Amino acid sequence: MPALIIGSGYGGAVTALRLAQAGIDCHIVEMGRDWTTPGSDGRIFTQTASPDQRGFWLRDRTKQPVSHFLGVSIDRNISRYTGILDAENMGAIHVYQGRGVGGGSLVNGGMAVTPKRSWFEQILPSVDANEMYNTFYPRANATLGVNNIDQAWFDSTEWYQFSRVGRKVAQRSGFATTFVPNVYDFNYMKQEAAGTVTKSALAGEVIFGNHHGKKSLPVTYLGQAASTGKVTISPLHRVTKVAPAAGSGYTVDIEQINETGGVVATKSVTADKVFFAAGSVGTSKLLVSMKAQGHLPNLSGAVGQEWGTNGNVMVARANHAWDTTGKNQSSIPTMGIDAWDTNGVFAEIAPFPAGAELWVSLYLAITKNPERASFQYNSSTGGVGLSWSQAQAQKSIDLAKVVFDKINKKEVTVYRSDMFGSNKVWNEGLTYHPLGGAVLNKATDNFGRLHGYPGLYVMDGALVPGNVGVNPFVTITALAERNIASIIASDM
Ligand code: FAD
Repeated sequence: MPALIIGSGYGGAVTALRLAQAGIDCHIVEMGRDWTTPGSDGRIFTQTASPDQRGFWLRDRTKQPVSHFLGVSIDRNISRYTGILDAENMGAIHVYQGRGVGGGSLVNGGMAVTPKRSWFEQILPSVDANEMYNTFYPRANATLGVNNIDQAWFDSTEWYQFSRVGRKVAQRSGFATTFVPNVYDFNYMKQEAAGTVTKSALAGEVIFGNHHGKKSLPVTYLGQAASTGKVTISPLHRVTKVAPAAGSGYTVDIEQINETGGVVATKSVTADKVFFAAGSVGTSKLLVSMKAQGHLPNLSGAVGQEWGTNGNVMVARANHAWDTTGKNQSSIPTMGIDAWDTNGVFAEIAPFPAGAELWVSLYLAITKNPERASFQYNSSTGGVGLSWSQAQAQKSIDLAKVVFDKINKKEVTVYRSDMFGSNKVWNEGLTYHPLGGAVLNKATDNFGRLHGYPGLYVMDGALVPGNVGVNPFVTITALAERNIASIIASDM
């Protein structure tokens, strides 16, 4: 086959659409399910409040990002299933990722943020920023269907009371706030509020999938790609090996799995070009193990390096009794505290849609944490580990603490210490934003071509060195748009 794409998240979806439009047949191999068939309860996705096995990727117990309430664990046993959200344990950190046709777009908050140009130029100096900001960011935003909330509606609806409280207290402490665009259709959300359509964001749906309203990849890039007739997808198929084929091209070994994770068949195909789009962790693990096992020995030593968490850390504050955040909260965040230039913090004002008034303000902070980690192959287990340590997350806490200490002091409020464990204020043990591991212009050339192997490319979050300063998917999409345009022009 001409082109095989590993993974159907942002990098993979952009690659498939643009190759297909250029007349090139391609095949996507995706290890997660195709989330189109309802279960016996008539729902495709599980309920947010009490997720069943559809919520988590091959786990015996849920692993909720906000894991406790009043210090008591809310996690419970489930049966192992190829569920939609993977809380992948990489030693000192759980890396949350979407699993299924559409990758992270199935589970994410839809926040579609273009980073500040000055920061982009620092992290990816080899990329022409003019081209990115004039051509590729606009192209990505348009094709992703990014839209903005009607600010008058934001200011009046009960569903964003939590966000208005977050804005008010940030501003009173001298921090700027900013509206954040999203791929959730805000017109649909208004109709949800009016009671004229089935609720999704206003029914708390997000991290385990949205039935309505969200323009995830299956309805944008992948939908357009399918309509070309040139793209096929194999869900529940996992790539395990890529190596040069005899003659030309690459041999790709694939395991077909069932919905409990068991291997039901192994297959081997040959492709002229192979695009790694398995996400920062998925792509890094594959490349590091292929190099270490001698299947792709000439890969650059930069493979597996410069991985970061985008400085992610979660925290919650307790508001005063009169400062209600609302029992009704939209699950789609649309505002951030922008203290990036002053404090190295961009904090998403996150919803906590529990269906009851809890006086909680929850935040996911992205911080300017310079710590990086690397992936290593373990020859005795055959697995790939990550060197990230808990101590490396301390910098994220230190940065976020300055901002939220100031807010607490001004408001005479305190941190919640019951939501990430018993007596635990900060949740630094997770990331939603894994980045790096095959950094652009280091592990690859300046357009994602892997050094040493013509016809092998990296197209996903692995290209971004550890921290993009805002939520990452718009940058991953725009970079993929840029790189595939060059690859189609020169290599196809
Ligand atoms: P992914 O989207 O992760 O896609 C990789 C795909 O490859 C997956 O579908 C995976 O199953 C598949 N795969 C992996 N290994 C293999 C293999 N060996 N064989 C076959 N298939 C494989 N970002 C934002 O910008 N805004 C947000 O609001 C936001 N909220 C988030 C909320 C949550 C809960 C999470 C988990 C993430 C969030 N993110 C958000 C992050 C965003 O979703 C990711 O940055 C993005 O999806 C990464 O894109 P990608 O193309 O690199 O990889």
